[in-house]
Amino acid sequence: MIAPGRAGRPGAGWPRVDEPTAEELVNCPFCVGREDRTPPETLRVGDPWRVRVVPNLYPAFERQEVVVHAPEHVRTIAELDDDQLALVAEAWQRRRHDEPEGYLHALINEGKAAGGSLAHSHSQLVWLPNAPPAVTAERELAPVLDDEVVVERDGVVAVLPRAGRVPYEALIAPSGPDSDPWSGGTLATALQLLAGLTRRLHTLGGGPIPLNAWLHAGPWWHLEVFPRLTVLAGIELGAGLYVNTLPPEEAASQLRETAS
Ligand SMILES: [Zn+2]
Ligand SMILES: [Zn+2]
Repeated sequence: MIAPGRAGRPGAGWPRVDEPTAEELVNCPFCVGREDRTPPETLRVGDPWRVRVVPNLYPAFERQEVVVHAPEHVRTIAELDDDQLALVAEAWQRRRHDEPEGYLHALINEGKAAGGSLAHSHSQLVWLPNAPPAVTAERELAPVLDDEVVVERDGVVAVLPRAGRVPYEALIAPSGPDSDPWSGGTLATALQLLAGLTRRLHTLGGGPIPLNAWLHAGPWWHLEVFPRLTVLAGIELGAGLYVNTLPPEEAASQLRETAS
């Protein structure tokens, strides 16, 4: 459901991610030099490390890990360059190959409003016994990739679906069917496009914004990008009706006109 007219210029009134506090910088357990504040790592990429993977201290599922995206205190994937994002993709893939049982749910939460508990850029890997309902529900559906294309690179496309539930909701997927995000370079390209899209959103919003992104590893894998610019409330959560205040074609043209 699209209901334009309530939004002003892009970025006006958008929620922002808070500036770092001194306490955050002094106590961040993911920064280089504080490796003893996390459980022993399950994977280290680079020497000295550039990306490390550690068990989640407070797991909700049997196996849950945190991928620390950089040794420096960066607070969003938007700050990672393409080489670093390729190492993040490598870490996801290597952990999948090391632990091939079950379904691996990979996700990124940025900002408190999106459930991000620690500010230092990271992703989470959650091993589930089976594909979750969101993935099985779309098993017969190919992702819709011809809606509003924002950018295309090396066989991966970022689009804003016309049925986007919230402003700037995006889909990043290989341009042809591909059921294996865990091998090859396509996942790295997808994460690079995700970072580029996030940079554009930060430019439009005048600073970092809260955002969720997750991988759906179905017959045609894709990343879903869900910016948290509006608060989900009783209509969305209770009725499953999403009133998108920004038509995706308008959102896409804003993003295309913004440098990544
Ligand atoms: Zn840090
Ligand atoms: Zn999906």
